Amino acid sequence: MPLYSSEAIVLRKIDYRDADRIVTFLTPDRGKLAGLARGARRLKSRFGPYLETLTHGTLIYYDREGKNLIHVNHFDILHSFRKLREDLFRSASGQYLAELVLGLLPEREAAPETFQLLLQTLDRLQKGVETEPILRIFEIRLLVLSGFAPRVESCVRCGGQAAPFGFSVEQGGVVCRDCRSSTVAGVRPVSRGVLRFWEQALALKEERFDRVRLEGKLNRELRDLLHHYYRHLLGREIRSFVFLERLRKEIAGLTPQRENGTQ
Ligand SMILES: [Zn+2]
Repeated sequence: MPLYSSEAIVLRKIDYRDADRIVTFLTPDRGKLAGLARGARRLKSRFGPYLETLTHGTLIYYDREGKNLIHVNHFDILHSFRKLREDLFRSASGQYLAELVLGLLPEREAAPETFQLLLQTLDRLQKGVETEPILRIFEIRLLVLSGFAPRVESCVRCGGQAAPFGFSVEQGGVVCRDCRSSTVAGVRPVSRGVLRFWEQALALKEERFDRVRLEGKLNRELRDLLHHYYRHLLGREIRSFVFLERLRKEIAGLTPQRENGTQ
């Protein structure tokens, strides 16, 4: 049975049988991989406490031809993202990113850029930079990397630029003023500010991510639009998004002055 080694981030873990776990990883070279970790729930498991969601490590595994699941042999920790875990909102944000990756990526297809994007985004969340712009940039970039990017630079129907634009999930992008009237239902308004941020999120150099600002109202508009689009792509509600929304409301309730801020 061939033995492989790869960097990996834990996306999800599910209890299986009495003492085992099924763990889904994101790896650069083989994308999403689900594996059986035998005995992972035993107190003296050889995996220790490391097979936790969002942990970054080195995965050693067997992969038998024709089998769906890899066999997890070892997982050595590189980053536990402990500080991220200690903050409820940031850790829920990380879980949300993992859920998007799980939902969008196919199994066993190389995804080096998505891997880097997730790793760097978790690192940023842990460092405590402004969370919301970081999440929006991730959502936008993941759509491009996974091949689901909507067309936002010009009208999907006529290629025109006549504002105000609408956004249609069915059409897969923006619809201009002239085409909106003839398009079937389900077109949402989309502001210039949202489209500008979208462009910026794609063009931005990595090292400038931390400095991106996103005004509260614009953030909410963009967040709603992206949520709407992701829900359409996944064909279901995104549980961790709903949880994050609840946390946002609670945080806003505790600190009313942040209501109109960037959170
Ligand atoms: Zn048009």
